[in-house]
Parts: sequence; C-alpha cells; structure tokens
Amino acid sequence: MSFTLAIVGRPNVGKSTLFNRLVGKKLALVDDQPGVTRDLREGEGRIADLRFTVLDSAGLEEATDDSLQGRMRRLTERAVEMADVCLFMIDARAGVLPADMVFAEILRKKNANVILAANKGEGKAADATILEAYSLGLGEPIRLSAEHGEGMGELMDVLRPIYEAHEERAAADAPDIDVEVGDDDEDAPRVPTKAKPLQIAVVGRPNAGKSTLINQIIGEERLLTGPEAGITRDAISVQQDWAGPDGVPVPMRIFDTAGMRRKAKVQEKLEKLSVSDGLRAVKFAEVVVVLLDVEIPFEQQDLRIADLAEREGRAVVIAVNKWDIEDEKQTKLKELRESFERLLPQLRGAPLVTVSAKTGKGVDKLQQAIMRAHEVWNRRVSTANLNRWLVGMLEQHPPPAPGGKRIKMRYMTQVKTRPPAFVVMTSHPDMMPESYKRYLVNGLRVDFDMPGTPIRLFLRDQG
Ligand code: GDP
Ligand code: GDP
Repeated sequence: MSFTLAIVGRPNVGKSTLFNRLVGKKLALVDDQPGVTRDLREGEGRIADLRFTVLDSAGLEEATDDSLQGRMRRLTERAVEMADVCLFMIDARAGVLPADMVFAEILRKKNANVILAANKGEGKAADATILEAYSLGLGEPIRLSAEHGEGMGELMDVLRPIYEAHEERAAADAPDIDVEVGDDDEDAPRVPTKAKPLQIAVVGRPNAGKSTLINQIIGEERLLTGPEAGITRDAISVQQDWAGPDGVPVPMRIFDTAGMRRKAKVQEKLEKLSVSDGLRAVKFAEVVVVLLDVEIPFEQQDLRIADLAEREGRAVVIAVNKWDIEDEKQTKLKELRESFERLLPQLRGAPLVTVSAKTGKGVDKLQQAIMRAHEVWNRRVSTANLNRWLVGMLEQHPPPAPGGKRIKMRYMTQVKTRPPAFVVMTSHPDMMPESYKRYLVNGLRVDFDMPGTPIRLFLRDQG
C-alpha cells in the first residue's frame, strides 16, 4: 500500500489547489475506482523525491443537499481511515472558524496523524491565524500558499519523517514475530488484537545491552530465529502482549535497533549506523527507552538521543543497565539521579529505572514504567481542573510585571495529548519570562502527576 496523504478541511480553503499542485495536472473530478468513494479524488502526488497517493475531499460545495455537514463528516472520516497522514487545511485569511474546530475534533477522535496547514498564507494578513491555529490542538501549523507554491519545502520537511517511518513500517511488517504470553492454551487460534500496539524503541550506545534487553523481554530464541527469517530490509520489530495494570493484555511493538545494526556488514560503519538507527527508532516510537550502561552512563550520544526524543515529543524512560555488576548500588543511584538532573533538565520527571538485562532483574519494573509513561503521555486534564489550578499558581507566585505592566493570565486549556500540550491566554505573551513558563510546566507535572512525558505550553495573546 503506497503512502497516502489526505487533504481535508472545510470547503474553499484551497484543497483542490494544493491537490493540483501536488499531482501536477488537472484530473477528472470523480474517480470511480472500486474502494475509492466518488467524492474522493485520488492522484499520484509528488514533492521532490517523495512519491505518494493524494486524496482530496473537495468538490463538496457543489453538493446541494441539506445534509452537507453529515456528508462532510463522513467523507472526512473515510479519508482519514484511508490515509497515513492528513493534511488539515485552514484558510489563513479567514482565521480559525467554528467549522475548522469540527474538523479538528474529527481528526483528534480518529487519532489521525495530522499536518496542520494554514493556506493562503502569503502576505501579512495571515500572521494572526498562524498563531491562532495552535488553539486547534494539532501542533505547529505550517504556512502555505497553494496558489503561489509557497511553503512546499516546509511541507516536505514535515512530511519526510512520516513518509520514511511508513516505509520502515512496511518493511518491518513482513518479518514480525508475534509472541504471545500468558496464554495457557497453546493451540487456541490466534485472535488478532484490535488495539494498536504501543510502539517502543530501545535506544542507546553500542554495547549498552539493547539486544540483551529485548531478548530478555521477548524470550531468547524467538528473536534469534526472527531476524534470520528472510529479512531483507533493515527495520526489525517484535510484537507481544504485556499484562497491563488490571491484568488486561496490552499489545506492544518493540523496535529492535540493535537488530538493524547486527545486519550492518561493514564494521567501520557501526558507530554511525547506530546513531541514525536510533534517530529512526525515535520517529517510530511512542515511548523511547534510553538504555545506559552503568559503567559509562550519560555519554554524549545518550544525551543527544534523549534530547531528540524529548524534542520529538516522545514519552521517555531512562533505564540504567548492567546493574548486576554495580557494587555500590545506593551511592551510584544517587550519583545517577544527580547527573540526570544536571545533564537532562528538559526530561525532568522522567522515570529512571535500574535493570539487569542479563539476569532479568528489574525488567518487570521497566515494563511497568513504560506502560505508565505511555498512559501519562495520553493524559487529558479537564479545563475546569486546569483553571482552578491556574488560579492557585498565580496566587502563590504572581506573574512578573515587566516595566510596571502586570502580565495577566485568564484562561487555560489542554489542546492536545501525545504529548500533553496546553494553551494559556495571556496578555503580553512576548514579555513572559522563560522562568515563569518553567514554573507553570513544573507545576503541571507535579500537581497532575505527569512524569516521563514532555509537556508543551503555548502562550496565546488574548488580544
Ligand atoms: P477547496 O474547496 O478547499 O478545494 O478550495 P479551492 O482549491 O477550490 O480554492 C478555493 C479558492 O481559494 C479558489 O478561488 C482558489 O483560487 C483560492 N486559493 C487557493 N489557494 C490559495 C492561496 O494560496 N492563496 C490565495 N490567495 N488564494 C488561494
Ligand atoms: P547492544 O549493542 O546495545 O545490543 O548490546 P548487547 O546486548 O549486544 O550487549 C553488549 C554486551 O553487554 C554483551 O557482552 C552483553 O552480554 C553485556 N550485557 C548486556 N546486558 C548486561 C547486563 O545486564 N549485565 C551485564 N553484566 N552485562 C550485560
């Protein structure tokens, strides 16, 4: 299945214009290929070297029946289901309209991979919408002008990692080894789990113990037979169920970056490869386990990848391996915590777990930390609770008054999960010191118990 991008959004924002630009020629309005709805146009799109299928949900404004809303919703849902990524388009000159909110909600509900684009972005008139667009809770908007071809480079930059991750996944799907645990009836037919598996990557420097850890988790011989079984491309993943908090099985998929590296024929490339493998694994993952070697923890390479995971908005768990060879466990743990705080302040609150991949000690704790980090990463805090909390925070430590002008904060809401992101309506957002933002972020983390996940805080000018 080729990589599919769906362009969605309300009528007249410029979807067809972008579609035509991506496809490069005008296509017939209706495509009656089986499986493609009559309202969805399909074409072969291209930006630079990326080739993909584009779906356009435009053409709706011609529909005259009064169930336009309902049709639009159904059509969008269908496009989302067919697509690997949705380009959600708004009109930068019109601002964020209620109809846009409806689309944003559909996309959020469907858990879609979304690229938010503010089209008609040429000229200054678009500036305000770019900021406003954050309130849709779909991350950073890119600024496009489909008509004038502006912003296509940026679109490509955003698209590329998603595209590459898709290609990797397609490769990874072939050699999957499904390992079932906790099932005492060996012969029972395998019922495919509906839930999307939680995606985990174990990253770390060579010899940190990544393969040993993965083997320990999934069972030795399964992995050993796995990678040999006709793997031609370089992403390897294994899937299994873990026991969740209530004993409910939670499907997991672990990306084996070490396995990728084992396949590297040229030894000199080893170091370089393991870094780029790690980078790719971070793109795949929801939870990134940064595996450190207790003898050489927090090396440059570890710090780089941990920082990348944070910037990419992944949930992070720090695991210190080879704990079995450490004699001074108490002292060492204290030392590790201090280094962690000093060297990775951006990951404050992330769990630090000690394990021995070799003996298996601590591995169950690591698995629990992973599931918990994932849960927190998906956490949603109600607006009512947030605003009660905000009042308390402001009383306890009022915002600064640069030049005698008190910065006022009136309202706060969570706009996104995975990772949690919040918007605060504030006067003079540009004057807000970083230290005050940190105070709020740290407060959120502690008071709403959100360890192990990046937290994003956006300030929005309340005008
Ligand atoms: P759709 O209904 O979302 O498919 O929107 P269309 O692609 O049909 O575009 C609606 C209108 O917006 C047309 O008149 C386009 O020429 C215009 N349009 C599309 N993209 C841009 C843009 O980047 N800038 C400006 N100024 N107008 C645009
Ligand atoms: P990778 O390069 O990160 O995949 O690391 P490996 O899993 O290949 O492990 C590198 C070396 O560390 C091997 O010799 C392992 O036996 C050893 N090792 C891995 N985990 C542990 C552990 O928990 N304790 C000890 N003592 N050695 C370990």
